[in-house]
Amino acid sequence: MRFNLAIISFLILSCKSPEKIDKNTNNIFSIVIHGGAGTILKKNMTKEMEANYRKKLEESIKVGYQILENGGSSQEAVEKTIHIMENSPLFNAGKGAVLNFDGRVELDASFMNGLTLDAGAISGASKIKNPISAAIAVMKNSPHVMLSGSGADEFARIQKLELKPNSYFLTERRVKALEKVKLNSASVMVKENEYFLAQKYGTVGCVALDKDGNISSGTSTGGMTNKKWNRIGDAPIIGAGTYANNKTCGVSATGWGEFFIRAVVAYDISALMEYRGLSVEEASKVVIHEKMGKLGGNGGVIALDNKGNVAMVMNTDGMYRAHMDSKGNKTIKIYSDE
Ligand code: ASP
Repeated sequence: MRFNLAIISFLILSCKSPEKIDKNTNNIFSIVIHGGAGTILKKNMTKEMEANYRKKLEESIKVGYQILENGGSSQEAVEKTIHIMENSPLFNAGKGAVLNFDGRVELDASFMNGLTLDAGAISGASKIKNPISAAIAVMKNSPHVMLSGSGADEFARIQKLELKPNSYFLTERRVKALEKVKLNSASVMVKENEYFLAQKYGTVGCVALDKDGNISSGTSTGGMTNKKWNRIGDAPIIGAGTYANNKTCGVSATGWGEFFIRAVVAYDISALMEYRGLSVEEASKVVIHEKMGKLGGNGGVIALDNKGNVAMVMNTDGMYRAHMDSKGNKTIKIYSDE
């Protein structure tokens, strides 16, 4: 009898270890993206512009969805999805990134792996075509977490990532936006803060949960128009603009970076889930509305928990965003009241 019990216990334990029970046995996967939050108003949008954004969001998310559906990793899904948005002039990342005070593009990006808590980031780079890939390369192929400026560009060169002259990133729209901000600041004595408030952000981000239950998050941006003195925002800062932990969730943020750094937005959402047991939606709302918002900042987050539940929370008029679940259900939204 004793012997039989021992055998039965052994069989039960070897078939289902606690870790395996916790694993994603239903093959659930999920992906969510953003293309920036800010003063995005229907009255300022033409039908054509709106259609272009929705089309690009759909094209981007489908790339990641396909990878996840075929059993690919969340890392690959995040990287390839963000490439589409970085290569599109619509968003403030890669080509089409906003310009700094000197009329140049300086790029920030970060990536985090929720299984290992490994992370990588680049900031103030000016030549890397796809900054998200450089962030992943820093994580995989260097002993560091963040490389900046010319060092980041040089590392990307050694890693054989594609480099471009700074002029590749420039677009007419962003040149005009910089001119406008500079003109206004010269004519009216408006505080720098008000320019930041009026910005239409356009950072991109992606969070994915793969069939193995692993979460990855990535964020890529040109930062904020007219930024000076090698200003760095929240996007490349792990815990502020990006965070991932299989125990809780993955987060990518967009908005007025200074406030996201001070409120440690992405990590705080994970911490509220881990230490207080909040849902991903509740945690995101608390951090965006009650913490970051109350400091005076604006923006939003996308987040996924380890069951594939999604949150897309903002305190701005809009955030370009899309989500797809394992069943292929798709949501694409722009305005906050949609
Ligand atoms: N968070 C970014 C920054 O402050 C801007 C954005 O999200 O568009 O650099």
